[in-house]
Amino acid sequence: MSNIIVQKYGGTSIASPKRISIVARRIVGYRRKGYDLVVVVSALGDTTDDLLKLAYKITPSPSERELDMLISTGEQTSVALLAMAIHKLGYEAISFTGAQVGIITDSSHTKARIIKINTARIKRELAQKRIVIVAGFQGVDLLREITTLGRGGSDLTAVALGKVLKAKSCEIYTDVEGVYTADPRIVPQARKLQSLSYDEMLEMASLGAQVLQTRCVELAKRFNIPIIVRSSFTDKGGTMISPEAKHMEKVVVSAVTLNKNETKVTIRDVPDKPGVAAKIFKKIAQEGINVDMIVQNISRTGTTDLSFTVVKENLAKTLKAARKASKQTGGGNVIADRAIARVSVVGVGMRSHSGIAAAMFEALAENKINIEMISTSEISISCVIRKKFAQRAVRAIHKKFKLEKKR
Ligand code: ASP
Ligand code: MG
Repeated sequence: MSNIIVQKYGGTSIASPKRISIVARRIVGYRRKGYDLVVVVSALGDTTDDLLKLAYKITPSPSERELDMLISTGEQTSVALLAMAIHKLGYEAISFTGAQVGIITDSSHTKARIIKINTARIKRELAQKRIVIVAGFQGVDLLREITTLGRGGSDLTAVALGKVLKAKSCEIYTDVEGVYTADPRIVPQARKLQSLSYDEMLEMASLGAQVLQTRCVELAKRFNIPIIVRSSFTDKGGTMISPEAKHMEKVVVSAVTLNKNETKVTIRDVPDKPGVAAKIFKKIAQEGINVDMIVQNISRTGTTDLSFTVVKENLAKTLKAARKASKQTGGGNVIADRAIARVSVVGVGMRSHSGIAAAMFEALAENKINIEMISTSEISISCVIRKKFAQRAVRAIHKKFKLEKKR
């Protein structure tokens, strides 16, 4: 193992010149302890969103290559500012774009995958005792085109660097103190989790928790890289994400998550015979759309309603594909229901405990909240409910599983 620590600072942690100097001081503190530091940063505050808005004001369908040219500038701004802030404290630092440090990706603009990272330049700079600052979220393809890694991609940059540099640890600094049993804005009694397994974090990220990018957790899991999520505003310990910890066996449910980013699509009166669902979902898959939570009702009259959920961003594309598919298979109208939310419970302990679903449904029933769709995985249970009940549902479930209690 090396003496390298990889730290990543998110947009809110560096949203103002003052916050940039606070971060610079924290980094220098680690430098003084003798560590070699590789620091990954996101764009300042809401820069990426603002740049995207700008693009869509010019055209509703900007070219993805040009989008990458545009949004990669956010991170280029922050690395330079952070290097200056460290210089001001009297320490050596040097900033780089993804291309400069050799983060090589494939060519799928706005969602590129990292192929390899040449560590030579970073290692040379570290050997000169410089703090290396790398622009998150970006890379370059084999034709030297700038690419980005998907929203939240700076997390991925950090974990990927942690891997190739064999870092001692990979710390993700954000504006919350770690991963919580539920969103503290919804459940004030929510508790910070000391530790969490990769599987739980993955499940939580895909079910709506926004602390970490899903792809970064996948990478961490594949290569067994422990991640620490902690606040850049305090010195508190944070949440450690790693292979399953022993104490977790006692914990059945670790957290409740909420996802309001999905829409329910229903295809009415689909003929209830073999091959129909296959045709419909093939058509939708051909558009590159991921569907989730599929429900098909029992048919009494030879036709049935088929419902599934998709992320909001894919709704327009989905409706188009579903309408075509419905026509071809003799189905009826296609309708979208945007007023839904998905609440989920996540926990590795579910693998060996029964009654979790029943307890969750009970919590909803006690609050007169109707369940419209259900899906389960080995370590999670999700219910689709009316969006207006979302917060009440999260609080009720959190309470049902006594997640506020110290363990
Ligand atoms: N700035 C990019 C985004 O907002 C990448 C990141 O923050 O990780 O998605
Ligand atoms: Mg961001």
